[in-house]
Amino acid sequence: MASQKHKKVIILGAGASGMMAAIQASSQKAEVILIEKNNIIGKKLSVTGNGKCNFTNINEINTAYRGENAGFEQKALSNFTSVDAIRFFSRLGIYSVNREGWLYPRSGQASSVADVLRMEAEHLGVRIKTSTSAIEAEKKDDVFLVRTDAWEYTGDALIIACGSKASSVPGSGEDGYRLAASFGHRIIRPLPALTGLVCSPVPGWSGVRINGKVVLLIDGLRVMEEEGEIQLTDYGISGIPVFQVSGPAIRAVSNKKKVELLVDFFPDFSAESLPAFLNERRKNCPYKDEKALLTGLFPDKLIRVLSKKPDLIPAIKAFPLKVTGGLSYANAQVCSGGVDTSEVDPSTMESALVKGLYFCGEVLDVDGACGGYNLQWAWSSGFAAGRSAAGKNQADQ
Ligand SMILES: Cc1cc2nc3c(=O)[nH]c(=O)nc-3n(C[C@H](O)[C@H](O)[C@H](O)COP(=O)(O)OP(=O)(O)OC[C@H]3O[C@@H](n4cnc5c(N)ncnc54)[C@H](O)[C@@H]3O)c2cc1C
Repeated sequence: MASQKHKKVIILGAGASGMMAAIQASSQKAEVILIEKNNIIGKKLSVTGNGKCNFTNINEINTAYRGENAGFEQKALSNFTSVDAIRFFSRLGIYSVNREGWLYPRSGQASSVADVLRMEAEHLGVRIKTSTSAIEAEKKDDVFLVRTDAWEYTGDALIIACGSKASSVPGSGEDGYRLAASFGHRIIRPLPALTGLVCSPVPGWSGVRINGKVVLLIDGLRVMEEEGEIQLTDYGISGIPVFQVSGPAIRAVSNKKKVELLVDFFPDFSAESLPAFLNERRKNCPYKDEKALLTGLFPDKLIRVLSKKPDLIPAIKAFPLKVTGGLSYANAQVCSGGVDTSEVDPSTMESALVKGLYFCGEVLDVDGACGGYNLQWAWSSGFAAGRSAAGKNQADQ
């Protein structure tokens, strides 16, 4: 029997998802060309998780992913799960440490993850072209043609894995969206996510870090709440709980909705039980004024802010902040928005508009919560796109 011709797959972007796609396509015997704008692969990957790379998360949370086409991400995530990611990286050499479900390489270096991906890709024969920027792409007579600043490449399949506009890491930008749009794809406006929120100013609180809860209200409706370490800043508010609500908050502001946060500075007590707790403190130390009563509960800076409010309990339990926007793209970890996933096959990541065209990673309108979910999306979508572009059926996987 004549052997089937191996497919030639071009991948644009050697970040997290593009490297995964390259390894998968190559392991299915495709001939792979991986084109990367930067002089090295995985620049953004190498700064993730504060340089330690939180590469996946084994906790399931129902607010982990967002996108206009809700649930699109689920098929790819179930075909390549967080456990698959841990096994995959273990085989490549990453011994992982588990911090309450958040997984990191034991080396403590995000660059180790980029390094093992590069070594595996090179071992499989992926042709990596760094310092090469994809400028245009088109499909003519069943062949994809990619024009770069250096050369022209042709292939049977094309994977766009150019990432998003988020972060100041070189290579972050709009190329992926532009290339997708040139094939007729609709782009949902990319906006910063996993970032701080700019709020109505609160003089004197900048520099405070405290455990608390933020509740996001959009047009008066409670949309989500998150607890953890909150950072109070000169522009507003930050910290992981704020990052988690920032995507929907920024999109709602851009859609001219009324966006507020209610900050709970003392989640250990309910609004109903807090008065009794404070009364007990008053009884124990009757010589203290209302400000001194809070010493030991909150940092001094925050006490000064809270005690300016007419009513102490609502100030502690539901401090209102008007959200006017988010920090810039350069200060965001990811973008919400991107290629409209209603035009993409959820199992294969293939375009519904152009056969043989695929997407993976953040260029798609899928953004995850803080905690390793964005890289998991890069691995899962890269896995699907790479295998499918090489001609492997999802059913065979
Ligand atoms: C500071 C920071 C910390 C983060 N920490 C975490 C974390 O701990 N855990 C987590 O899950 N997520 C984290 N993220 C998010 C995560 O890094 C991204 O979601 C992930 O890298 C997206 O993968 P990707 O392949 O889509 O894009 P990228 O990894 O950004 O790769 C895209 C690649 O395409 C290249 N490219 C762009 N345009 C072109 C072109 N025209 N031609 C050729 N190449 C091109 C870029 O140079 C880049 O290398 C963090 C992000 C930042 C900014």
